[in-house]
Amino acid sequence: MTISFKVSDNTKEKMIEHYKYMKRDKTPAYAIFQADDADTVITLYESGKVVFQGISADIDANIWKETEIMLNGKAPEEKEKKEKKDDNDKNDYYFVNSIGSDEVGTGDYFGPVIVCASYVNKKDITFLEELGVRDSKKLTDEKILKIAPSIMNKIPYSAYILKNKEYNMMQNKGYNMNKIKAILHNKVLLSLMKKDNYIIDMVVIDQFTSPRSYFGFLKNEDNVYRKITFTTKAEDKCLSVACSSIISRYIFLKETEEMGNKLGSLIPKGAGVMVDEYGKKIVNKYGKDILNDIAKLNFKNTEKILGN
Ligand code: MG
Repeated sequence: MTISFKVSDNTKEKMIEHYKYMKRDKTPAYAIFQADDADTVITLYESGKVVFQGISADIDANIWKETEIMLNGKAPEEKEKKEKKDDNDKNDYYFVNSIGSDEVGTGDYFGPVIVCASYVNKKDITFLEELGVRDSKKLTDEKILKIAPSIMNKIPYSAYILKNKEYNMMQNKGYNMNKIKAILHNKVLLSLMKKDNYIIDMVVIDQFTSPRSYFGFLKNEDNVYRKITFTTKAEDKCLSVACSSIISRYIFLKETEEMGNKLGSLIPKGAGVMVDEYGKKIVNKYGKDILNDIAKLNFKNTEKILGN
């Protein structure tokens, strides 16, 4: 996945500071730096153009989009590379009976990680199209809150809510985000398949790592489902992945809303500057131990909030 847009000078400065220690030795022509952050390669050009490449490029891109909005009041113009291939294989994933899984919350400092698997039978395609599931990426949270309950009523699914405490425990054990995702995708796929004898043409995961590392992460699991098709942007191609993405987002919104109610304020999404500011307020009010219950402690935000 490649995402590219132009940022303003103030965001540029923040990026230079942020990626200071992740810079590669070599810098491409006209670039200020090229850096590696986990799975993503980030290149910032003198012109302000920034390019994010890799499976989780959208997560990193969103953080900086948010910063740009915060600092300048408007989102950067995006130039997403249209891959022709995507349209071709869309047909392979669309008119099929499928199970598909996706996750939400992995780029948000506050709130749980939700992973969901759904089953879509061919005869449900019209129902889902009428609800507007086809372009799930374009759905606003407001629309998701509206349509998710109807989907959850009709479409069989299995979801796992990884609360922050449990997430932090897994991180402490040395599990990285991709390993956590792999374990949870495998878990929801198996638990959905146990519910019924579904007619399945394919099982699709919205790809976040190579198949080889996916199965590598699962080498200590007793039961691993293996007949999986991995593809990126799967929620655009495959309706069961789209359903899983909507259901996960719905659960995530509900969970963070409930957390916010308990704290008496609205919790900001993402992992940007607003999140740091909110974190500082909450720590002032409740003490730093509260972060273990509401946040993903391994994110860099923790250091910024605690001021180390
Ligand atoms: Mg995904």
